[in-house]
Parts: sequence; structure tokens; C-alpha cells
Amino acid sequence: MSAALKYDWSVYKKRRIQFVLGLVATFFLMFSLGEVKSVTSFPGPVIWIAWLVLVVFPLAFRFALTPCPRCGKALHFKKGFGYPFSPACLNCGLKINSENQPEIK
Ligand SMILES: [Zn+2]
Repeated sequence: MSAALKYDWSVYKKRRIQFVLGLVATFFLMFSLGEVKSVTSFPGPVIWIAWLVLVVFPLAFRFALTPCPRCGKALHFKKGFGYPFSPACLNCGLKINSENQPEIK
């Protein structure tokens, strides 16, 4: 019999997948538009920069601002600084994907 999950990481996992797919699509777009061959060829760089600004940056911020299931604050954002690769919540220290860490006091 498995114990019930104490913390729900479904929102975090969904946003992480969206962010990673956005990054992968960025590299695919970069190569398919010929960005690597010629930086000045129009409209490749314009489409690529628009993709970064309009899709990837919002996905990155959305991922970094995912609420922590324990403290409710942003998982990867604290006092104006973000670190999307941190292994734990920057505000309360809850490890990512942990199921039963003790509550904060
Ligand atoms: Zn937290």
C-alpha cells in the first residue's frame, strides 16, 4: 500500500515540460531558419527573436514562478533573482518532487 502524496507536483511538472519543449523548439527553429549559417539573413533572426520574446521568456518566467506546494511562494524565484535549475524551493527548501518532507515551522 502506497502512501498518499503529501505534495502535488503536477503543476510544476506540466510547466517544466512546457519550458523544456519551448527550449527544444528554439534550437529546432534556430537551425531550420538558417540562423547558424547567416546571422544577417532576413527574416530568420526576426522570427527567432520574436519566438524567444513571445514564447520562451514567458514560459521561463511561468516555470520559475510556479507556486511551491508547501509554502505557496515561487519555487525558483526569491527577492528578484531566479534560478530555474535549483533542486529545492528557494523560499522554504522543499526538495523538488519530494513527497513527505516535514512542514516548516
Ligand atoms: Zn517553498
